[in-house]
Amino acid sequence: MNWNSDYERCELCPRRCGVNRLAGERGACGETATCHVASFGPHFGEEPCFTGTRGSGTIFFRGCACGCFFCQNYQISRGGLGETMDNDGLFRAAEALIARGVHNLNFVTGDHFWPHIAELARRLRGAGHRLPLLLNSSGYLLPERVAEYARRMDIFLPDYKFADADLARQCMGAADYPETALAALREMVAARGFLFPFDPTGRETAREGVLVRHLVLPGHVENSLRALRRLRDEFGPRLPISVMSQYRPVPRCRGRGDFARRLTSAEYAAIRAEITALEFEHVFIQEFEPDDAFFPDFESERPFRGNPE
Ligand code: SF4
Repeated sequence: MNWNSDYERCELCPRRCGVNRLAGERGACGETATCHVASFGPHFGEEPCFTGTRGSGTIFFRGCACGCFFCQNYQISRGGLGETMDNDGLFRAAEALIARGVHNLNFVTGDHFWPHIAELARRLRGAGHRLPLLLNSSGYLLPERVAEYARRMDIFLPDYKFADADLARQCMGAADYPETALAALREMVAARGFLFPFDPTGRETAREGVLVRHLVLPGHVENSLRALRRLRDEFGPRLPISVMSQYRPVPRCRGRGDFARRLTSAEYAAIRAEITALEFEHVFIQEFEPDDAFFPDFESERPFRGNPE
């Protein structure tokens, strides 16, 4: 890794802004080369295979290269919440999480701070920590960077948000999302395989591989159906997937049609039926009305009420 060149002329993600983040410039992710972390702690709202009994060691980074207007984490992806954390601070935070017994370290939307994460991973392994490291991303990654990620990360948890290029353009200004994210996903599966072990009870937590997430958007069932079919066509029925119903309209959704409401049970039922029809074998399906205790409020001392104090 070349720290300077990665931040100096930033092309860390498909936006390829080319800005000098070391000099304080900001690209589409909104971040300079100063790392900001919005929250870290054991998290019990992830899929059981990551949460287990002691939680997933989440580190939520500030900023995001996607910038979807409906972002459920908008307070940190665009709202500017977060504390500066240098390499030593990240290492201390990671070790504090490990000391609490978390099953993995879960880097949430941190690809725009990849040089910091890579350095942290190097130091953690050097210090003898062997727990799985997990890159939790929007899926909008450069395919040619995945091999580099795979050298440091054991688990990939990417979204596949949009199969509809026009919807991707409307939501995040990037019509290439469906193809770019799929190409990156192919590289992730080639590098790390499917999630293993896949224990839906969480008694055995995951050690390696790929699980793909998809958030169903209100009024856009067709996008979800296309996404599921595309994933099934590309990777077959053994691809582990996690389908989520937890969409909530955030302030920027006002006046944006269906995005200003919640998902309906009929919409979600259509998605469930398609998952069955496509015969996916390894599936997490969030219940229709999941616990709001895991809808984040990063302005709170406890961003996730559902997590133990
Ligand atoms: S990481 Fe940020 S600055 Fe770099 S290319 Fe992506 S959006 Fe642009």
